[in-house]
Amino acid sequence: MLSPVQAVEGLDAGSGQESIFKDIRDTVLGITRKYDRAYWLQCAKEGRFTVESWQAMCDAGLMGLSIPEQYGGMGESLTGLIMMQDLLSRAGTPNLLLVVTGLARVPLVKHGTPEQIERYVVPTVSGKKRICFAITEPDAGTNTFKIKTHARQTRDGWELSGQKVFISCAEDADFIMVVARTRPAQDGDARKQGISLFMVDARAKGIEKQKLNINVAGPDRQYMVFFDNVKVDKDALIGPEGDGLRCLFDGLNPERLLTAACSVGIGDYALARTVQYVNSRAPFGQPLGAYQGVQHPMARAKAHIDGARITMYEACRTFDAGGDAGRASNTAKLLASEAAVEACDAAIQFHGGYGFDADYDVITLWPFARLLKVAPVNNEIILNYIGQHVLGMPKSY
Ligand SMILES: Cc1cc2nc3c(=O)[nH]c(=O)nc-3n(C[C@H](O)[C@H](O)[C@H](O)COP(=O)(O)OP(=O)(O)OC[C@H]3O[C@@H](n4cnc5c(N)ncnc54)[C@H](O)[C@@H]3O)c2cc1C
Repeated sequence: MLSPVQAVEGLDAGSGQESIFKDIRDTVLGITRKYDRAYWLQCAKEGRFTVESWQAMCDAGLMGLSIPEQYGGMGESLTGLIMMQDLLSRAGTPNLLLVVTGLARVPLVKHGTPEQIERYVVPTVSGKKRICFAITEPDAGTNTFKIKTHARQTRDGWELSGQKVFISCAEDADFIMVVARTRPAQDGDARKQGISLFMVDARAKGIEKQKLNINVAGPDRQYMVFFDNVKVDKDALIGPEGDGLRCLFDGLNPERLLTAACSVGIGDYALARTVQYVNSRAPFGQPLGAYQGVQHPMARAKAHIDGARITMYEACRTFDAGGDAGRASNTAKLLASEAAVEACDAAIQFHGGYGFDADYDVITLWPFARLLKVAPVNNEIILNYIGQHVLGMPKSY
């Protein structure tokens, strides 16, 4: 059977093989042909979300990937969703909303009531509603246990106050999945308790959004979001009160894999563009691509991308089989983000001076690839995971 890696690489050409992976690929490629890198950059320039391409993905059923069929989805496999992000990114159109939607829908589907799934998840499949995700705070940063945003229980539900930062697509989303304290912080193992997950109407009274000046070319903008006594329904609490982190952790491996998919895809995109360039530019008579000094860094980056992609789909396979995908997901995220930076570095180097001309759209690839070593989780936390859980050393933070 055709593997996801073979499907992404188009290695089935002429084989006549039928496969769901081939169908997903052909559907995504149909969309990226219409909504290509030029469209993506134009949206970025206009400061607007890629509404048309997002809706095209919903109309084609792609946003039903990883969602159970009873809720209008295409079944619970994560692999298809990762393929979609991989292929979007390979076309130069990665999607950060897909990362946070993919993350948020996991705890919703796993821990939400049928009514909550109907209300919050089903409309994301058709495109009627979009979800963003808010965990990061100015003071807490990587240390989620230090968050101060809190929800106070009232007669009718909850009242939420606090501040979140770097929230992608906050203006383009209908719901914000907010991670908030419902009990004071404690020490030791108990520190995992007291944090809850809420689905908040992104346009509710008491919410204010300030656009941040993030210098990463792309249509997904980031915001500081203030919550000032925002009234939240009783049924907006996802999973048990105080146990939100456990529910959220179910979505962390998918989030790492959706990010890894952005990295391997954008790395491939950078390399493909550069191959085209070095095969046609010939300052010394023969194409630049004929020199080993040019080929080897690009070949090395491609080998690293391939290794990361194989690990990424292996993690998907484990996740879809119900196994523990932590090791492979973390490894894939680390390797993919490093490989993407390596590929973009080679792209800049071999475009020479044009590598720095924004109109050539090569230097524009760099901040995005570089970002993925920091967000949504920095690579040091990934290494901490590998040090502790794979190698068996003490927890380091
Ligand atoms: C473009 C963009 C989009 C984002 N989108 C979202 C979003 O949609 N929702 C959301 O909630 N957040 C989002 N974020 C936030 C992002 O997840 C955080 O920036 C990231 O997790 C790091 O947090 P911080 O910036 O506070 O860094 P800090 O926690 O201050 O850490 C700074 C650096 O210190 C190092 N470090 C930190 N902790 C450790 C440790 N324990 N061990 C070793 N080294 C460590 C790392 O190198 C890290 O990069 C986004 C950020 C960006 C830039």
